[in-house]
Amino acid sequence: MKKRTRRALLALAVGASLLTGCQRAKTLEPVEGATFAMDTVMQFTLYSEDPDSAQEVLTALTGLLWDLDRALSATGGDSDVSQVNRSEGRPVEVGAWTGDLLSQALALCGATGGALDVTAYPAVKAWGFTTGEHRVPPAAELAELAEKIDYTAVKVEGNTVTLPAGMELDLGAAAKGYAGDLLAQKVRENGISSALLDLGQSTIAAVGAKPDGSPWRIGVRDPDGYTYFAVIELADMAMGTSGGYQRYFEQGGVTYWHILDPGTAAPARSGLASVTVVSPSALVCDGLSTALFVMGLEESARFWRDHPELDFEAVFMTEDGSIYRTAGLAESFSLAGGYEDREVTVLE
Ligand code: AMP
Ligand code: MG
Repeated sequence: MKKRTRRALLALAVGASLLTGCQRAKTLEPVEGATFAMDTVMQFTLYSEDPDSAQEVLTALTGLLWDLDRALSATGGDSDVSQVNRSEGRPVEVGAWTGDLLSQALALCGATGGALDVTAYPAVKAWGFTTGEHRVPPAAELAELAEKIDYTAVKVEGNTVTLPAGMELDLGAAAKGYAGDLLAQKVRENGISSALLDLGQSTIAAVGAKPDGSPWRIGVRDPDGYTYFAVIELADMAMGTSGGYQRYFEQGGVTYWHILDPGTAAPARSGLASVTVVSPSALVCDGLSTALFVMGLEESARFWRDHPELDFEAVFMTEDGSIYRTAGLAESFSLAGGYEDREVTVLE
C-alpha cells in the first residue's frame, strides 16, 4: 500500500473512532431514581453508557442515604445524634460520618459567629417543628431556650462527642449538604461523570455537566409562589436554598418558620425570604444558606467578602421581593422567564 493511501486510511479510521466517541457521548442514557430520606423526596439522574451499572450505583446511593439518615436524624430513636441527645453529659462514641459532619458543622457555626448553631434542637422542638404540633412558646420559655443554644459547649474528640446535660443537637441544617457531598463522591468513584443529585430544595449537587457539555440549569423558587425567579447554571458545583416558605405554620395572622435565630430561639426575621448558596461543597451550601438567612442581607454581604476561603456565592431575595446576588455569579445567574424586568443588585 502506498504511504499516502495508508495515511489517508489511518486518518479515516481516527475520524471514524472520534465520531463513534461523539455518538457514544450523545447516546448516554439517563438512569433515574427517587427516594424518601431525611424527611425529603430526593431525585437522582445519572448518565451512563451502562444503564445496569448506573442502576447499581443508584441503589448504592439510596443505601448510603438511609445509613446516613439512621446516623444523623435527631428524631431517629437510636441514631448517633439521639444517643448524644440522651447522654446527660456523658461522652458518646459516634460513627465516623457523625463525627466528621459535626466537626465540619461546628467549624461553620464558628465562622458564622453562631448564626448556624447545631444545638438549636430544644427550640426547634418547642415550636413543634419536629412533630407538626406547632405552638408559639411564651417569651419566658424562649429566653430559657435561647440560653441553652451554644455550639461552643459541644466537644468532639475523634469520634467521641460530649454535650452538656439539657442541650440537644440538630444537624438538620447541614446534613443534606453533607449527604450531597458523599453521594457526589460515590457517583464519581463509580466512573459516572454526568449526574444531577437533587436532595430536596436545600441541596442540589451537580456531578460534571450535562452529557452534551452544557451546564445543568436549576431554578430558584420565588418564596412568594410556585414559580422560579432565577436560574443558576451548575457544573461540578452544588447549590442550596433556605427559605421561610419551606417549612412554616401560621397563627393569629403571623407566619412562623423553621429557621431560628439562635440568639432568640424564635424564627429569624432578618428581612430575607430566601438565600441560595452556590459552592463546590454541598455542605457549605446547606450550612451557609441557613446561617445567611439568620444574618440578613447586610451581614451576609460582609460575611461573603470576609470569607473567600469558604469559596461560595449567593443569591438573596428579601421579604419585599428585591433580588441581590454576589459578583461571582456573573456567568451562571440569570432571571427566569416572567422575571426578566426585575432589578438585580450585584454585591461586590
Ligand atoms: P435548612 O432547611 O437547611 O435551612 O435547615 C433548617 C433546619 O435546621 C430546621 O428545620 C431546624 O431543624 C434546624 N435549624 C433551625 N434554625 C437553625 C440554626 N440557626 N442553626 C442550625 N440549625 C437550625
Ligand atoms: Mg441548611
